[in-house]
Amino acid sequence: MIVGKMDGFEYRLKRSNRKSMGISIERDGTVIVKVPRQAELNNIEKFISEKKIWIHQKLAKKKVLNRERPKREFVNGQGFLYLGKSYRLKFIDNAGLKSEKSPKAVPLRLWHGYFELPETEKANARNHFISWYKKQGKRQLKERIPRYDKRIGVRVKDIRILDLGHRWASCGRNGVINFNWRSVMAPIWVFDYMLVHEMVHLIERAHSDTFWRLVSRVMTDYEKYSLWLNENGAELDL
Ligand SMILES: [Zn+2]
Repeated sequence: MIVGKMDGFEYRLKRSNRKSMGISIERDGTVIVKVPRQAELNNIEKFISEKKIWIHQKLAKKKVLNRERPKREFVNGQGFLYLGKSYRLKFIDNAGLKSEKSPKAVPLRLWHGYFELPETEKANARNHFISWYKKQGKRQLKERIPRYDKRIGVRVKDIRILDLGHRWASCGRNGVINFNWRSVMAPIWVFDYMLVHEMVHLIERAHSDTFWRLVSRVMTDYEKYSLWLNENGAELDL
């Protein structure tokens, strides 16, 4: 099979006893161009060129679907994300934490570049991570909102950190903003983009031209962050 290259993708050429040309895309994203045995190269390239938008659309879709969800295990050395960086988990014995923590505090902490969790809490590790992300999410939002509220001209009355599944954030009525606890795993500028997006929704609910104009007034390069989310969003999970 011959491998060719065109318009930013590679394809494999398969000649056989067929009468017409056809293109298929394999599960792994390989582009296969099937052509009659005697087909000439310039005709083949012309055919591919006509189909290139279709090919690019299919490849983009495959890229998203094939993305594996992270398989994070709660074991020593496993990396967990916070504001775009990965920190390793380290189980410690309880003694080190007892003196400084109240019984109700989240036993997980980010300390000298490691997530530290008492060995005895291993079975509840997932819940502790979620609680920790929720707490940090709230803290970050409280810190970041004052950067934007006057510029956008809104007042955020309350913030809630919830499990919103595949959505990053949403806004309710009366100035309430809901954030997914996973959002705080994103780099801070991406996090800010999610925030600006929701704050602008408090003024304009639809994704209209007005909406995007308002977003770009506060964050000129928002498209970069929106794209980052589309491409990397699936990684932001436990
Ligand atoms: Zn929106």
